[in-house]
Amino acid sequence: MKTYDVIMAGGGVMGCATAYYLLLEDPNLNVAIVEMDPTYAKNSTVLSDGNTRLQFNIKENIEISKYALKRLATFDEDMAVDGVKPQIAFRQEGNLFLSDFANEENAKAGLAMQQSLDCDVVWLTPDELSSRYPFLSVDGIAGATFGALDGTMDPHAVLIAFKNKAVDLGADFIEAEVTEITHETGQVTGVKLASGEKLAAKYVLNSAGAWGTKLAKTAGIDLPIEPVMRQVFIIEAALDFDEELPFLFFPSGIYLSQEHGNRFMCGKSFDDDPIGFDFRTDRRTFEERMWEDLVGHIPSFDRLKIIGAWAGLYAVNTFDGNAFLGEYPTLRGLMLANGFSGHGFQQAHAVGRYIAELIRGVSPTLDLSIFSPQRLLDNQPVFEGHGKLV
Ligand SMILES: Cc1cc2nc3c(=O)[nH]c(=O)nc-3n(C[C@H](O)[C@H](O)[C@H](O)COP(=O)(O)OP(=O)(O)OC[C@H]3O[C@@H](n4cnc5c(N)ncnc54)[C@H](O)[C@@H]3O)c2cc1C
Repeated sequence: MKTYDVIMAGGGVMGCATAYYLLLEDPNLNVAIVEMDPTYAKNSTVLSDGNTRLQFNIKENIEISKYALKRLATFDEDMAVDGVKPQIAFRQEGNLFLSDFANEENAKAGLAMQQSLDCDVVWLTPDELSSRYPFLSVDGIAGATFGALDGTMDPHAVLIAFKNKAVDLGADFIEAEVTEITHETGQVTGVKLASGEKLAAKYVLNSAGAWGTKLAKTAGIDLPIEPVMRQVFIIEAALDFDEELPFLFFPSGIYLSQEHGNRFMCGKSFDDDPIGFDFRTDRRTFEERMWEDLVGHIPSFDRLKIIGAWAGLYAVNTFDGNAFLGEYPTLRGLMLANGFSGHGFQQAHAVGRYIAELIRGVSPTLDLSIFSPQRLLDNQPVFEGHGKLV
């Protein structure tokens, strides 16, 4: 049986980033990334919007994003393999979160926390919004927070960069499905694959994304994480916008990201989004449940066409919306990086480094123990503000 020090069960951005950070710091480690679908057709990272933001309410989530920005500044150089640099197309167009009066206090509390951590985020009044973005309707808007350093990139390119660099540093990338996390007397012993083959390891990371609950169950562990389908629509407005627009988030939860000119990516989470592994899109969701909402904020969107759509899965942590990071308290060697809901892509840098530090037994550079799975056993949820799941 092949023996590893660490096995990543799932080769998305979390698995590959953790493998990278392990091998960066200790090239002698034997690391395997086991991925059931290397085409990444249903992988959440690839189907995400690729956005990163400093605009969180919890200090640790803000610090995680600050670290991401630091790494993104030199990402292409750091991840070069044989002189070939990835092209992740990171652009910092800024995120603009519009707030209604009901959410104003929460938004300002988050802003105060962000500013106390030296984040470049400011409050814009309705008048300032109208003068900067004349196409916006500010009816019912109390103001907005604008984070100039927030931005978007190609999530597929980031994932492949982590994967290629981890392999270059010595990781084995194995195409297989993990069907079981094996364990004996409270200690992880490795994984079993669909072929029946077993791999041994003292540490297994559950990096299976929206499939993470299913995987944890094979070790007898129940995680309060559900795969929830989210749709994204690509739309073309009749009006061309000359300037680069920020990534816009409206109070109802609908968001709009300009790809270029009059082409936008648009999405919204609904309470009745299907739970399960459903990847079907339905344009009626946009036409009947999103369009009017959007026109209420940008009247010129009354004429547009849908030119594409896809659906991906959030791994929704129904306990508190934040990730579970670290060793599961009742099973030594089982590391979790699960339940990122809608914000895991940007967290891969800090989470990968953190999990690698925990496994290597070194003191974490960033203390993320607030997200320990122990909080589940203690029934101590950590919300992003007003019980909101993000
Ligand atoms: C529409 C949408 C928009 C989003 N937008 C953003 C955003 O703008 N910013 C942001 O930060 N986050 C965003 N997210 C969330 C983000 O995509 C995820 O939190 C993040 O990508 C999770 O990474 P992961 O590695 O945990 O999971 P994944 O990327 O899904 O990787 C898990 C991998 O594990 C593999 N796997 C599963 N089970 C097994 C098994 N048993 N054996 C072997 N392999 C297995 C899967 O094939 C998959 O490739 C968005 C998500 C969606 C769906």
